[in-house]
Amino acid sequence: MQFDAELLLLAMAPVFLACIGWEAWHLRRTRPGAALYNWRDTLCNAALALLQQAADKLAWLAIVPVYAFFYDHYRVHTWQAGWLPFTVLFVAQDLLYYVFHRCSHRVRWLWAAHVVHHSSERLNFSTAFRQSLMYPLAGMWLFWVPLAVLGFPPKQIVAIVLINLGFQFFVHTQLVRKFSGRFAWVEYVFNTPSIHRVHHARNDRYIDRNYAGVLVIWDRLFGTYVDEDSREPPVYGIVEPFHTYNPLKATFHEWVSMAHDVATARGVRDKLRALFAPPAWAAGFHARRMAGATAGPAPHCTAGMAATVSTPTHTGINDNNPISSKTQT
Ligand SMILES: [Zn+2]
Ligand SMILES: [Zn+2]
Repeated sequence: MQFDAELLLLAMAPVFLACIGWEAWHLRRTRPGAALYNWRDTLCNAALALLQQAADKLAWLAIVPVYAFFYDHYRVHTWQAGWLPFTVLFVAQDLLYYVFHRCSHRVRWLWAAHVVHHSSERLNFSTAFRQSLMYPLAGMWLFWVPLAVLGFPPKQIVAIVLINLGFQFFVHTQLVRKFSGRFAWVEYVFNTPSIHRVHHARNDRYIDRNYAGVLVIWDRLFGTYVDEDSREPPVYGIVEPFHTYNPLKATFHEWVSMAHDVATARGVRDKLRALFAPPAWAAGFHARRMAGATAGPAPHCTAGMAATVSTPTHTGINDNNPISSKTQT
């Protein structure tokens, strides 16, 4: 029997559901007042996962031939089966995931899909289910094309992408503390619950950090790593929250906002910024629009100029900092 790699995450669903059930039961017994689970939030997350799985299954039909094209015509190497090619594939895909994830927080077009994952103010295993069916349209699949050029066949690419995402389910919990003592090394090599809690936080010191998929070495190498500080517990969610348990509203909120900004921005430059600038630009644009609406017509200045002088510090972070200017809007 041949295993269909595209169904890997669905095949793991019983494990995921068992973890969610155990975590919810355990938290109810040990932290009854903490309300870390909310059934409407969890149902919304589950619906988002199903929508994304359906969209992905369809999208692979179009994307796999693209990988096959690059594999057939442009691959630079042909690998024999073994542990070395698997290791190269795993490490290369994890690095590309880091690039994709960092871009998803820095380019609004990609953020429009990724924001769904960050928009809950809770963090538990079910948050991992919170994904967007718009990832294929946003272009997530483009980031894996180099793997085909490196000489990995499409099926292996799909499998390694899903293995990486499957691993990431397990870092969405508040029950596992930072590894210490004999296991402290784990925090230097792998993405862990502590590291990923930081990624989901909107505190000034945590925002736009820890983009790791499986390996945290990329964050440590490229300067985006920050430690979870027990004196500053993470506050989960996005800086301009949209409160909804409707999976379709959660999916399309940012796309609608982006389309509206493109329509209302003046000039080609700002229309392009509305699509591709960091989310902080959009937050500044919204703030200026609000200020304009309450103060009446203001002297014209470009949004870009205004952004440099009056972008609200949603994060309290210097917006000139290339890492920290995301507002998780
Ligand atoms: Zn993220
Ligand atoms: Zn996450």
